[in-house]
Amino acid sequence: MKIKTSNVNAPQWRELTIKSRLPEQLKCLDELAHNMWFGWNHEARSLFKSLDEKLYEAVGHNPVLLLERLNYDRKEEIVNDAKLMKRVKDVYAQFRAYMDVEPNKKRPSVAYFCMEYGINQILKIYSGGLGMLAGDYLKEASDSNVDMCAVGFLYRYGYFKQSLNMEGKQIAQYEAQNFNSLPIEREVDENGNPIVVDVPYLDYVVHAYVWRVNVGRIKLYLLDTDNDLNSEFDRSITHALYGGDWENRLKQEILLGIGGILTLKKLGIKKDIYHCNEGHAALCNLQRLCDYIESGLTFNQAMELVRASSLYTVHTPVPAGHDYFDETLFGKYMQGYPQRLGITWDEFIGMGRQNPDDHTEKFCMSTFACNTAQEVNGVSKLHGWVSQKMFAPIWKGSYPEESHVGYVTNGVHFPTWTSTEFRDLYDKYFDKSFMSDQSNEDIWHAFLKIPDEEIWQTRMKLKNKLVKYIREKFTENWLKNQGDPSRVMSLLECINPNALMIGFCRRFATYKRAHLLFTDINRLSKIVNNPERPVLFFFSGKAHPADGAGQDLIKRIYEISQRPEFLGKIIFLEDYDMHLARRLVSGVDIWMNTPTRPLEASGTSGEKAEMNGVVNLSVLDGWWVEGYREGAGWALPQKRTYQNQEYQDQLDAATIYSLLENEIIPMYYNKNEEGYSEQWLDVVKKSVATIAPHYTMKRQLDDYYDKFYEKQAARFAELAAEDAKLAKEIAHWKETVAERWDAIHVVSKDTEFLTNGGETGVEYRIKYVIDEQGLEDAVGLELVTLKPLPDDEGRELYRVRPFEMTGHEGNQYTFEAVIDPDDAGTFKSCVRMFPKHKNLPHRQDFNYVKWLD
Ligand SMILES: *Cc1c(COP(=O)(O)O)cnc(C)c1O
Repeated sequence: MKIKTSNVNAPQWRELTIKSRLPEQLKCLDELAHNMWFGWNHEARSLFKSLDEKLYEAVGHNPVLLLERLNYDRKEEIVNDAKLMKRVKDVYAQFRAYMDVEPNKKRPSVAYFCMEYGINQILKIYSGGLGMLAGDYLKEASDSNVDMCAVGFLYRYGYFKQSLNMEGKQIAQYEAQNFNSLPIEREVDENGNPIVVDVPYLDYVVHAYVWRVNVGRIKLYLLDTDNDLNSEFDRSITHALYGGDWENRLKQEILLGIGGILTLKKLGIKKDIYHCNEGHAALCNLQRLCDYIESGLTFNQAMELVRASSLYTVHTPVPAGHDYFDETLFGKYMQGYPQRLGITWDEFIGMGRQNPDDHTEKFCMSTFACNTAQEVNGVSKLHGWVSQKMFAPIWKGSYPEESHVGYVTNGVHFPTWTSTEFRDLYDKYFDKSFMSDQSNEDIWHAFLKIPDEEIWQTRMKLKNKLVKYIREKFTENWLKNQGDPSRVMSLLECINPNALMIGFCRRFATYKRAHLLFTDINRLSKIVNNPERPVLFFFSGKAHPADGAGQDLIKRIYEISQRPEFLGKIIFLEDYDMHLARRLVSGVDIWMNTPTRPLEASGTSGEKAEMNGVVNLSVLDGWWVEGYREGAGWALPQKRTYQNQEYQDQLDAATIYSLLENEIIPMYYNKNEEGYSEQWLDVVKKSVATIAPHYTMKRQLDDYYDKFYEKQAARFAELAAEDAKLAKEIAHWKETVAERWDAIHVVSKDTEFLTNGGETGVEYRIKYVIDEQGLEDAVGLELVTLKPLPDDEGRELYRVRPFEMTGHEGNQYTFEAVIDPDDAGTFKSCVRMFPKHKNLPHRQDFNYVKWLD
């Protein structure tokens, strides 16, 4: 036998985690590190920092890594430092006191679904405003002690880290997260084995691990498919946020919606309300339908229960912003569902179409969400109206004004976004009940009484802190990437904390118009280069790697910032994240936003600024339409002057320049002997006292309960009681109406007024007799009148007048309306018939409409 020269088998690598041992006295720190509560508790953060300041910076403020890397000697030192140990004890006691309160069972319980969560910069599972909102929501749910849990993804790479090369080109770096060094825990069963959720994908299953993030008292479950139970092809489902192709996106949305519900089932969790935050998770309603049907209900009965307990929040103002899947791709994964639901494929895919029978229409997640959720809402008053118009084609037969789509204006989590410096001011001057009564403007009015000087000093502290932070954080990076060290050093020295500092920081989506300020470079140069009144602009934000136009904007701003006349005056700060955002929204003087109307659904960073005495200068769009008060910030008009976007951009830019030149800069520099401008502080005070109270996350959470959760939970309980008795009744009634709808007809009518018109001040009677086809008092009639708009801009809904049912003979019902016209003019009128039932939540719930002759 010839001896082989080599004989080697493959190693079976096993993942081994070696945990750093903490002395008994410090064990409680491990528990603290594994609850995101530290992120919004200043004492906890400062305690972790005190354990080892240098290391705390080196590990990016991640307490889990900090504890892991603390060396033995330092641990000994800490244990022997009585003062520090007292702080450990105090913070832990504060934490336990917070955690040990039972959740308030009086308010409905909620399961919340979202694709991203911005909880802390060390957990890279967010990209922008949507995630920030979801993260802030969970924190407030915890502070308000409601019964809520949430589902999302643990991304291996998350969103990218941004740097710019020497030409200002954005470089996107995806860094793998090491899950064991994050403040999260693997969800395990009673035997300590990892919980695995099996999610069906037509003819195979994907296995997802479940991780738990403790967000104070709230549990956020994160699904993770990056494990060796899955094929290479499926491991990547949870790799990147908003990455990959449409197929990967569909696979993600199946995992989030269907996998999300299966996860809650596996964990034995049932909630009253299922809240779908943006359309990505809409398939959660599909799984819930399947579950009810498997328990013995019919499709229509199941639908009653699913709808009653579902709320869908839309964040997108334009149809193009939603997710659409073509029929082939959708069928590849979803083909098996019609059978489970007991409906046809066309009926199934039709739930995602505005015109269910139009086979060319793609399946839209948002349309599916609208069709399977009783309630839908936008995220500001204006966006509510925009959404009513955007979704109007789903509910034909009614006008956007009549839509049930509502709104809750976004807010921000006060403890997360208020700087410690401002928090101290509030603690000192506000009523003690403040934290549990944050929307009470009376409490906030105390801000008006704080001495100017104290506010100014606090503002200056924050401005200096920002400049210091920038010098520390960016020097190294800029020296590495921007060449010429002497220029970088002079740039850094140029940053003048006494200048009027203006921030523009957010995702670089083109609609946000970051370029607006650069419309007239010479004028801008004059503004920033006045030696008596220096002005400084900070820009920061990432562009999606697939958004070329957004990246070009960054490049353009970077190039301008490198010109000699703008060096140290226009500054681009790379890698905008929550940490940098916290510094910026509290460190500048003015927060600027210039979206294209009406594309900013809400926007929240301006609200964060409000909490820190930073004043807004923004287009009246999104939240600012409601937020703006005269003398408490600056607004560009809400109405467009031009249809042509280029003209509008120029006009808006000119408005900003002239506001800066004539109002803002002179006011800011109108300083008294004390070195501050009293006029300026008037604006700051008014803005904090009258605007901030209305944009806390507490107000938002309370709004969701008041407008939706309470009402839906009560209705759901009625529908589900006694083995879903009422749900079955309603389903049966709808089925009957649907069957006979086409046969319900006009027997006789008196519509002379509709034919001939009339005069103001005279009464007219319209009468219909309707054969209801054996249904009892099941329809209503109303006269719908439209009025032409000036300039031929179509027609608007003028008035809807209900008919009275004045009697019936057998199954023939008489309806009458008395009309006494009070406006002269040319109108369009038609009579609309609709099904009516006292248990319907609103018309769109059963959107049958017949226009009568
Ligand atoms: C608040 C915040 C946002 C959202 O900002 P908008 O102005 O609402 O677009 C995005 N990214 C980060 C890091 C934030 O903190």
